[in-house]
Amino acid sequence: MTDRRYQERAFDDVMSTVEFRVAERPHITVDTEICRSCTTKACVHACPADLFVPTSEGGILFNYEQCFECGTCYQICNNEGAISWSYPDGGHGVVFRKG
Ligand code: SF4
Ligand code: SF4
Repeated sequence: MTDRRYQERAFDDVMSTVEFRVAERPHITVDTEICRSCTTKACVHACPADLFVPTSEGGILFNYEQCFECGTCYQICNNEGAISWSYPDGGHGVVFRKG
């Protein structure tokens, strides 16, 4: 059985090692019109940074500013065109300072 407390500590440890240099241009954009008809909302559970938030109207709110750039949302989304991905501009995005 997985020790949830261990997982939470490990996540906090990871978060303490990173810094986000937020770029003006979002490196991920989400077409919320496509999301409205999505039945799985897989991104909500898959994103390790909890950046996809379902709305009570069936839509999705997304904030790119604390994105780890792991690519999981792009891989798991089954609706073509819902997520547009590019890397942040040079010197921006997630920076791992140690570990
Ligand atoms: S990003 Fe993809 S998986 Fe997430 S709600 Fe939109 S269509 Fe669904
Ligand atoms: S790339 Fe990773 S951290 Fe960034 S929004 Fe997608 S799943 Fe979340």
